[in-house]
Amino acid sequence: MVTLGYVPPQGRIPSPDMSHARIFAEHRSKWEVRGQYAIWTGSRAPGEARYRLLERVGRKVAPIEWPNGGAVMHRIAADREFMVENLAGYWLRLDVDSIWIEAPSSGGQYCMLIIGGSTGKPDAANVGWVCPKCGSSLAFKAFGRPLRDFPTFLTSADKWVDEFNSKPEARTCQECGTVHPESQKLAHDNALEST
Ligand SMILES: [Zn+2]
Repeated sequence: MVTLGYVPPQGRIPSPDMSHARIFAEHRSKWEVRGQYAIWTGSRAPGEARYRLLERVGRKVAPIEWPNGGAVMHRIAADREFMVENLAGYWLRLDVDSIWIEAPSSGGQYCMLIIGGSTGKPDAANVGWVCPKCGSSLAFKAFGRPLRDFPTFLTSADKWVDEFNSKPEARTCQECGTVHPESQKLAHDNALEST
């Protein structure tokens, strides 16, 4: 049986929201806000440094990937700190679940981070760093209501990176004395779109 779905008796059928295939193929990094979601898509050509999802588990770091580079879909639980290597150098903790999708192809690596899916969330985001030697927290800062104004949140996070980089004392671990290297800002090479 073939289900055709609901066809409006009059008026045009709305176009489906399926632009991400195009975004994937453009080999760039892009944020969008669509309804309850903040969505990042990024792609890397073969041979470029790959995007890699890291999760902080206690004081350890778990890379979320297959050894053979296979496709991954992974739920990042709310309140779990995570980082996307080569996207930004900071850890992010949100009060809502996210979905990470990594889809390798002959054209390179395609990735997607989907944040949200719950009304009003994320309502809080923490951005910070952990000691690269002992794993203790160095500097985390809370940003309120990031989804309400996501471009401002991204800009504010970049300013927080500048502040962290300018203060060696903030980058020095209180427990073991290791100095965290300067952090990478968010890599975003085009404007964020909101719909
Ligand atoms: Zn340390």
